[in-house]
Amino acid sequence: MKPIIAIVGRPNVGKSTLFNRLVGRRKAMVDDMPGVTRDRNYAEVNRFDLPFILVDTGGFEPETSDKLLQQMREQSRFAMEEADLILFVMDARGGLTPADRDVVEMLRRINKPVFYIINKVDGEKQEADAGDFYSLGVDHIHTISAEHNRGVGDLMDEVLAAL
Ligand code: GDP
Ligand code: MG
Repeated sequence: MKPIIAIVGRPNVGKSTLFNRLVGRRKAMVDDMPGVTRDRNYAEVNRFDLPFILVDTGGFEPETSDKLLQQMREQSRFAMEEADLILFVMDARGGLTPADRDVVEMLRRINKPVFYIINKVDGEKQEADAGDFYSLGVDHIHTISAEHNRGVGDLMDEVLAAL
């Protein structure tokens, strides 16, 4: 059985962009409207040394922060149960949000590798924005730009080594 890698995170952080980047073609719908991925999107990825199944989690665009939290908890629960490794994506431009903190609290209790990723770090300038995220107290934070393919190769080297 190929290992399962799940991408989770709040709407609009760039989960589907990362999914497409890793799959190597445009499979998940990326949109400027948050929450465009209606359901989970699966792909077999065979272009790395180790083949894996990649899952993009989506959902509706929540009207309230309560519903956002509920959706993120649901995604995370799925990922914890089904996945072998979790990519938790946050957004350097949107900054660190209470929902991010909440999910990090859930994820740090599980016994599976979790990668904490800050997306939209398109250049050196955004590296500074990523500093806030160190207050989460996680061991390592990976900064990437899924759109500009920055840091994604290094991230995947570490991800594959953790499988
Ligand atoms: P999702 O809701 O988490 O799946 O997010 P999407 O992948 O649909 O992306 C949401 C928005 O963020 C889109 O407008 C993307 O083009 C944009 N986006 C995604 N990755 C990056 C990135 O690395 N840098 C920048 N600047 N924008 C990005
Ligand atoms: Mg999406």
